[in-house]
Amino acid sequence: MRSGRIIVAGASLAGLAAAESLRANGFTGELVLVGAEPHEPYDRPPLSKTVLSGWLGTDRLLLPTTRNLNARRLLGVAATGLDLAAREVRLADGRVLGFDGLVVATGARARPWPVAQEAALRGVHLLRDRDDADRLRADLAEGPRRVLVVGGGFTGSEVASSCHDLGLPVTVAHRGAAPMASALGDLVGGVIAARQRAHGIDLRVHTTVTALEGESRLRRARLSDGDELDVDVAVVALGSLPNTGWLAGSGLAADAGGADCDPAGRALDRTGAIVPDVYIAGDVARWRHPHFDAAPQTFEHWGNAVAQAEVAGYNLVHAPANPRRTTALPAFWSDQFGLNIKSIGLPHLADEVALTQGSFDRGPFVAAHGRNGITVGAVAVNSPRVLDGYAALVTERAPFPPTINATDSPDLVVHKGPS
Ligand SMILES: Cc1cc2nc3c(=O)[nH]c(=O)nc-3n(C[C@H](O)[C@H](O)[C@H](O)COP(=O)(O)OP(=O)(O)OC[C@H]3O[C@@H](n4cnc5c(N)ncnc54)[C@H](O)[C@@H]3O)c2cc1C
Repeated sequence: MRSGRIIVAGASLAGLAAAESLRANGFTGELVLVGAEPHEPYDRPPLSKTVLSGWLGTDRLLLPTTRNLNARRLLGVAATGLDLAAREVRLADGRVLGFDGLVVATGARARPWPVAQEAALRGVHLLRDRDDADRLRADLAEGPRRVLVVGGGFTGSEVASSCHDLGLPVTVAHRGAAPMASALGDLVGGVIAARQRAHGIDLRVHTTVTALEGESRLRRARLSDGDELDVDVAVVALGSLPNTGWLAGSGLAADAGGADCDPAGRALDRTGAIVPDVYIAGDVARWRHPHFDAAPQTFEHWGNAVAQAEVAGYNLVHAPANPRRTTALPAFWSDQFGLNIKSIGLPHLADEVALTQGSFDRGPFVAAHGRNGITVGAVAVNSPRVLDGYAALVTERAPFPPTINATDSPDLVVHKGPS
């Protein structure tokens, strides 16, 4: 498809990358970028890192473009419905736009605190967009007695780190055995836990927050361990929910867990059939990565959003008999407590973990993750460059534990059980 009208719903990382890819691949028709946020596309990872710790203003996050997209930008207006038969997208302001091609890139939102009255207390925050970050920063600048971070996943751990950098006392309540363990495994999560505690974070694992209390302002939190904390700020970091509500009733296979597509990004309908000229990319996309024997899932990482969007743009323009597929291994990074954490593959699938380089106690390390005797992922802490070699091992489905001839390889100990 080189002409006609393509709508990209969602004007953030995946939406912008899809628009770039469409133009780069020779689409000369009308390009419409529809975004619920009023802002030009911006980058989210700094929100929990440099923005929160005060190094970067939210006005400095705009995503760069490498070409003139010549796109009509409808910002501050959400897509509210999709009619596949008529090939139309409905907008929140009542407009209805026809399309020849569509890219669904509506991402995800933060999972809200489940009790609406408590969520409405001043001082209770989510962190997904730049307005959230501005509000949270303003609250942190007032010097709260203590910050409670609800959930020790990536966002929660990064928020804890940024608040610590600001000199604020922090409690993290985490349901699981260790921070970020659902992505990195319990063993690496345990190392992160030790690091957080060494920085003075009051980390409570196997602990949930049972109530947030106050008149109009948050004053107290009750925890499942029986403790009661005086807190003025709580950051609810309970994961995210894909923005699929506007696709309800469209016939696309989309539900609270994501919008289904194949590895080429082609949208699937409820029967599993490919829907012509409709693509899904980014955090909203649920798909089965061709490399892994695992159930379809969303991959809520920066690199995945860009890779899928590029593939979608290519396939939508060229409609090749053998479409391109997103084959890049899942990868993400995180910066916190002086640690650069980088992950490749799917460590959470593992049933075995081995420290292959460095030391858990001292300095940088790499842990390889295996499942059924195959290397499925690796996590590097403060040694990001070595991960390329591990990516090759995951790509080759190298036997686990892999042979690593590195000068800093310790005696191999394989830890069994869920990673
Ligand atoms: C605080 C934070 C820190 C992160 N840190 C890292 C990191 O360190 N490393 C990493 O790999 N990843 C990180 N990520 C994840 C990364 O930012 C996401 O994977 C990436 O933003 C996904 O891009 P996306 O365009 O698919 O979705 P999103 O960025 O969620 O964008 C979707 C856009 O669509 C809009 N939208 C929603 N519904 C509609 C609608 N109905 N109509 C029109 N527009 C709509 C939304 O408002 C939003 O602007 C982080 C995310 C957050 C929130």
